[in-house]
Amino acid sequence: MARYTEANCRLCRREGQKLFLKGERCYSPKCAIERRNYAPGQHGQSRNKMSDYGTQLREKQKTKRFYGMQETQFRNLFDKASRKKGITGENLLILLESRLDNVVFRLGFASSRKEARQLVTHNHFTVNGKKVNIPSYEVKAGDVIKVKEKSTNSPKFKEVKEMSITVPSWLTVDVEKLEGKVVSLPTRSEIDTPVAEHLIVELYSK
Ligand code: SF4
Repeated sequence: MARYTEANCRLCRREGQKLFLKGERCYSPKCAIERRNYAPGQHGQSRNKMSDYGTQLREKQKTKRFYGMQETQFRNLFDKASRKKGITGENLLILLESRLDNVVFRLGFASSRKEARQLVTHNHFTVNGKKVNIPSYEVKAGDVIKVKEKSTNSPKFKEVKEMSITVPSWLTVDVEKLEGKVVSLPTRSEIDTPVAEHLIVELYSK
């Protein structure tokens, strides 16, 4: 699948806010948003007022980038959200949060969603005891996500064991065992991603 390979920080500057795509750097003064909080390119500092369509489009792009997804994949997830009962925008966010790469990131086993995706594809995790290497795998309430026995001695996971990790209320983590559990799927109020999901619904409803 095609992946966006340009500097991640340009994506944050385009959206005018931190998307936390680079792990520890995002929390340091080296973060590009801290240093140059304007859009990249020649006209980056002279933005005009955006149309409704522009606002909706930016919100969708921002959300896609937060979760590191491509357009087709994102649109398919939106269609799935719209077929579910309930509020489509909320369903979409819950589906995004339920992706295995996001859960690995939320459990503190990776410093960014990008790193989480790489760790998943490199076969470092099991779900309910079975090997899963698909970043888009949709977790369910009760699922147990664990670092594979063979991977626990890698420098990456030794480092994780030394960390103090705080997870969202819908997850629990046992850092010593390098194991996390999905207590329940998140509700909208438990998702802190700064997204106005109704704008995405409006965009795709045109
Ligand atoms: Fe975005 Fe992180 Fe780069 Fe800051 S350091 S601009 S948050 S990717």
